[in-house]
Amino acid sequence: MTLHLEHVTLTYPDGDSRLTALDDVCLHVPAGALTAVVGPSGSGKSSLLAVAATLVTPDAGTVLVDGVDTGELDRAGKAALRRERVGIVFQQPNLLPSLTAAEQLQVMAHLSGRAPRAARERALELLDAVGLADQAGRRPHQLSGGQRQRVNIARALMNDPAVLLVDEPTSALDHERGAAVLDLLATLTRERGTASVLVTHDRTHLERMDRTVTVRDGRLSGEEAVARA
Ligand code: ADP
Ligand code: MG
Repeated sequence: MTLHLEHVTLTYPDGDSRLTALDDVCLHVPAGALTAVVGPSGSGKSSLLAVAATLVTPDAGTVLVDGVDTGELDRAGKAALRRERVGIVFQQPNLLPSLTAAEQLQVMAHLSGRAPRAARERALELLDAVGLADQAGRRPHQLSGGQRQRVNIARALMNDPAVLLVDEPTSALDHERGAAVLDLLATLTRERGTASVLVTHDRTHLERMDRTVTVRDGRLSGEEAVARA
């Protein structure tokens, strides 16, 4: 379970020219470790995740998800790869208002053709893992912001992804709840052996990460290993 970006460049149209969002980015994300990508707003963090998630095709470079060269896949192949091997946690939970916490997770299993009963069991097990065992029957409006983000994380783990991609998960949370969500992501990453990338502009919780790299103007720099106590 690894994620490799090799010399990835991504540009967007910008008037008559092009804006370079990612500039020759190389990033190797090992299994079982939470890698933070830190940088200011507009530096290319979400673009990096979009490329890693195969939602956007880079102009140049290679993206290997769990050993699969995504450049060789067609649209359907990428969709299948995302469904089976990639978990994505966006900034806003985007939960469906009418579904309970357990049902939000079960929808994911339904999409990948898992038997309903096994899906229900797995959903309850994951809600337990994120500390929401007693909230499985609640709908989003009955949950706090932190609880909704935990449902979001549990949902991303539903199909046992090899690669977990997380975009600014704490931006809507206070300091304490943000710290708890990051600790949860670090623990789940180690327990499940996923290759996890978390992007954030917020430097306050970096000691909770296994590794930090910095992105600025689309370039990755200065990989610093963060020593763990
Ligand atoms: P971050 O997540 O670090 O804030 P983004 O990856 O969203 O940065 O954006 C990087 C740069 O690319 C910014 O200058 C942004 O305006 C630009 N950008 C992002 N998405 C698009 C898009 N779909 N079309 C054009 N420009 C974009
Ligand atoms: Mg962003």
